[in-house]
Amino acid sequence: MKIDAKQIIKHLSKSNCSTDKNFFQAVMEVLESVKPIVDDNEIYNTNNIIQRIVTPDRVIKFKVAWLDDENKVQINRGYRVQFDNTLGPYKGGLRFHPTVNEDILSFLAFEQIFKNSLTGLPIGGAKGGSDFDPKGKSDMEVMRFCKSFMVELHRYIGPRVDIPAGDIGVGAREIGYLFGAYKNMTSRYEGVLTGKQIAFGGSNIRPEATGYGVVYFTQKLLELNNMSSLKGKICLISGSGNVAIYTIEKLHHIGAIPVSCSDSRGVLYDKDGIDLDLLKTIKKDRKNSLELYVKTKTKAIYTPVEDFHKNQNNLWDIPCFCAFACATQNELNKNDAKNLLKNGCKVVVEGANMPSTPKAIDIFLKNDILFGPAKAANAGGVAVSEFEMSQNASMQSWSSEEVDKKLQKTMCNICENIHQTTIKYKLGKNYVQAANIAGFKKVADAMVALGV
Ligand code: NDP
Repeated sequence: MKIDAKQIIKHLSKSNCSTDKNFFQAVMEVLESVKPIVDDNEIYNTNNIIQRIVTPDRVIKFKVAWLDDENKVQINRGYRVQFDNTLGPYKGGLRFHPTVNEDILSFLAFEQIFKNSLTGLPIGGAKGGSDFDPKGKSDMEVMRFCKSFMVELHRYIGPRVDIPAGDIGVGAREIGYLFGAYKNMTSRYEGVLTGKQIAFGGSNIRPEATGYGVVYFTQKLLELNNMSSLKGKICLISGSGNVAIYTIEKLHHIGAIPVSCSDSRGVLYDKDGIDLDLLKTIKKDRKNSLELYVKTKTKAIYTPVEDFHKNQNNLWDIPCFCAFACATQNELNKNDAKNLLKNGCKVVVEGANMPSTPKAIDIFLKNDILFGPAKAANAGGVAVSEFEMSQNASMQSWSSEEVDKKLQKTMCNICENIHQTTIKYKLGKNYVQAANIAGFKKVADAMVALGV
């Protein structure tokens, strides 16, 4: 069977599964990648695997009406994209951000299928959220929004059905309110959400998991490519949220030198290494600007977005050995990739979902920059989420050491798996294609075995 990616995108547009570019970008990337195994495997054709895998099982959309502090009724949109449950119950985060729409969530849910498959754990792919912006809202407003959101969502989730977690704008506070609402409405105390606080069923190391996992993955990647370790190396990190902070923390633990971070307003560069305690204190309140850092650490440099060179993010123009993109989608474009190359960067790893544009990835692959794609590199968060589900199901609580050890093992296995895939399919250093092939094959084979 020959995949015609453009034809499939056309079909998706017609069937109105999604209307915009992020989802199609993600689908195109996967379809181009899996050509070698699909072209050679007639059984995928007979079972129409490609059409089935790019079509979400269901997209749930709902209205969320909530009361603000002035007792005015506010309305937002809520979504849950349950994309595929071939390998296990739907699993994927909830995002609260003004940019949330069906397109973004479809892309994230689609990516989640293959990421979850790569972990080797029994979980399917989903994503959800709302265009609600928790930034600038009072605690009570966030609580009222979460309660209203769960009034709708609780009909579609369950510990063996769909288990949402956090993502951008949904941290421990939001998960707590959502879990409280679920418990009150159903009288059931069960592992229906992950990312909970330890006191009510959360897992040790869940907040740290994605960032730590990114670093564990990178260390293994370097080892498998006979490259020197991160110890003593200059590293760039974008973002200053959950993923970025714990990537920086683990880099400090292993003796690397993380020198940057960013948010939607600007970039911070501290050549002596980011002072993590100071950064955490500043970012306890998301409203705070990174500019505050420079008031304490006067040698650090803050550059607001308005001062960026045209079509570039100044962060990626700082010389480094390794760059970790941990903020958001499409935050690293071809100009940024050229800057990294020019400044001698040897490794780029994605902590965020799809932070590099396709043209940027092209530059990395063509110029021997070792590139760790999100699907593989940032799977640590969902892996520990699955550990949380296991602990909830067996009414146990594992120690931090135990969870951390399992996390390390999972990240090393993912890296080893895609490395072996590059060898098996003669892909050189193309870990993007390898991650897509390895993730896809497991789901496709299970789909065939399960029948229509
Ligand atoms: P957070 O909301 O905790 O942090 C996001 C960070 O990115 C914030 O510092 C935010 O700044 C910054 N940011 C947002 N938009 C931009 C922009 N346009 N330019 C520069 N910075 C920006 O989210 P997470 O850290 O949890 O998630 C980050 C990424 O990692 C997302 O792509 C997410 O899907 C992915 N991911 C997260 C996992 C997790 O476990 N948390 C698991 C796997 C993937 P500001 O505060 O100004 O908006």
